[in-house]
Amino acid sequence: MKIAILPGDGIGPEIVSQAVKVLHALDEKFEMETAPVGGAGYEAKGHPLPEDTLALAKAADAVLFGAVGDWKYDTLERALRPEQAILGLRKHLGLFGNLRPAILYPELAGASTLKPEVVSGLDILIVRELTGDIYFGQPRGVRECPDGPFKGQREGFDTMRYAEGEIRRIAHVAFQAAQKRGKRLTSVDKANVLETFQFWKDIVTDVHKEYPDVALDHMYVDNAAMQLVRAPKKFDVIVTGNMFGDILSDAAAMLTGSIGMLPSASLDANNKGLYEPSHGSAPDIAGKGIANPLATILSAAMMLRYSLGRAEQAERIESAVKKVLAQGLRTPDIYEEGTTKVGTEQMGDAVVAAL
Ligand code: NAD
Repeated sequence: MKIAILPGDGIGPEIVSQAVKVLHALDEKFEMETAPVGGAGYEAKGHPLPEDTLALAKAADAVLFGAVGDWKYDTLERALRPEQAILGLRKHLGLFGNLRPAILYPELAGASTLKPEVVSGLDILIVRELTGDIYFGQPRGVRECPDGPFKGQREGFDTMRYAEGEIRRIAHVAFQAAQKRGKRLTSVDKANVLETFQFWKDIVTDVHKEYPDVALDHMYVDNAAMQLVRAPKKFDVIVTGNMFGDILSDAAAMLTGSIGMLPSASLDANNKGLYEPSHGSAPDIAGKGIANPLATILSAAMMLRYSLGRAEQAERIESAVKKVLAQGLRTPDIYEEGTTKVGTEQMGDAVVAAL
């Protein structure tokens, strides 16, 4: 199994090296090769996604990605900015399915802005379609308003659209993810107002016939937003389009209150994927040895589950993370009085020891 390791910028190299350490501690043979990406790609090869890096990502069974970006690149032209590497990888690898779990370990319930009884033990997964919807639909732009009371004025417009195949493939990803978890799937739409999402609902209902072991329900996006803060533990897996998923996954992430804990995966049609923490490169704490490596370590666990067919190893890592939290070890971002403050390296070592 070949894994492309792309540490990136800021805290990326610090946190990715902890995840690599954890992977080495498993009794598995992985071939790992590292390449520069983002600002590091620009420094080394003059481009945020150098050709060699892309070739390595394409050839690998999975990609473990740290984070990219630094304020010092803000003056570069857009095409050369570090963040372009993520968009390039999504496009070239055909990564259309974004999986973002929001898990709140009982030990960290105090980190959430919601009452502990509402969120403690939360474990949900949001599956967001990543390459379609109103974010990419054509035509779009600013034009002269052709009709109505504002005729003749300028108007901005976008196009919401989803092809049947696009909906089917993300629905399969979501049903299969639900099969690996609590076997419940909520499809979030706005079918009461939008044609695109009535169509979405019909197709998801049709795909459901292939997954009789999964319970499917449908929810309007406004209600889903409300339920996420009212009773988030009612959900197991949520599947939705690009725009609704963008908004709901950030809301779900913040339920947990600790950005340093949240992994994510972006998958193609064959379950090859790119795995990365949900947070950015945190330039404010880079090089200080205090970044929380757990989101990246948990991303490596997702990689084992979704791309490498090693669900049992994923569970070992997840159990090890729970164990270090139960031991009271905390990086500064999740530190509370009465727990033990540790750095990035110590946290990685503790996970390895717990394994
Ligand atoms: P950020 O997620 O990097 O940081 C936000 C805050 O959270 C900071 O205070 C940071 O110190 C803290 N934080 C983040 N991860 C942490 C961790 N593992 N442990 C402890 N604390 C952590 O977001 P930002 O500051 O808005 O962006 C910084 C850079 O990251 C920008 O250049 C941005 O474009 C980039 N970015 C990259 C990605 C990505 O690579 N996928 C995602 C988001 C932002």
